[in-house]
Amino acid sequence: METGIYGGTFNPVHCGHLHLLKAAAPYFDRILVMPDHIPPHKEAEMLASGDDRAEMLRLAVSDIPGTEVCPLELEQQGRSYTYLTLRALKARCPSDHFTLIIGGDMLLSFKEWRNWQEILENASLLAAARDDGEYARLLQAAKDFPGARVLKVPPLPMSSTDIRAAAAAGKPLSGMVPPAVERYIHAHRLYRPSGKE
Ligand code: ATP
Repeated sequence: METGIYGGTFNPVHCGHLHLLKAAAPYFDRILVMPDHIPPHKEAEMLASGDDRAEMLRLAVSDIPGTEVCPLELEQQGRSYTYLTLRALKARCPSDHFTLIIGGDMLLSFKEWRNWQEILENASLLAAARDDGEYARLLQAAKDFPGARVLKVPPLPMSSTDIRAAAAAGKPLSGMVPPAVERYIHAHRLYRPSGKE
């Protein structure tokens, strides 16, 4: 079984995330979309709860075949580390071949991930550019990691930071997040500056 793992904070999920997910989907039998657990006291303001981030992901990926939101990291305490997540997944599904689906920024900083060599013993890497002009740098960086692949898809530059800023300013989010996610953000009053209704 070819299993993709698409991890992130997804605070919130946005169209750039979904663009990468859809481009990667044909390479896999299934993709586990995995929101990470972040101890609230460690993070900046405007971190939505794990439940909210997971629910927005479910709404966003419901029409992408083969994808499922995996609560493994959310259920664990403490900061999420990919090498530990992979150990757990390997124990559960020993015959699966795992691939991490990552944006270009993550490939370029991959050697900063804790125990990255162990990660590569348990998973391959599949990356795509987030910004114009990044593709050539990614091809170069991929040479350091055996079996790493870079998807040739046009980037869709966008970040959760942009979405939180737009939501806090009361701007419409259409085109940045799927309509169901926009409705969820409004209904649950997420990313509003504290004290503002
Ligand atoms: P923030 O702005 O809060 O730092 P983010 O937009 O970078 O968030 P994350 O949840 O940290 O989003 O990213 C999860 C994964 O999705 C990472 O591998 C990241 O590189 C990738 N990713 C994020 N945005 C894009 C995008 N626009 N295109 C392709 N990949 C992306």
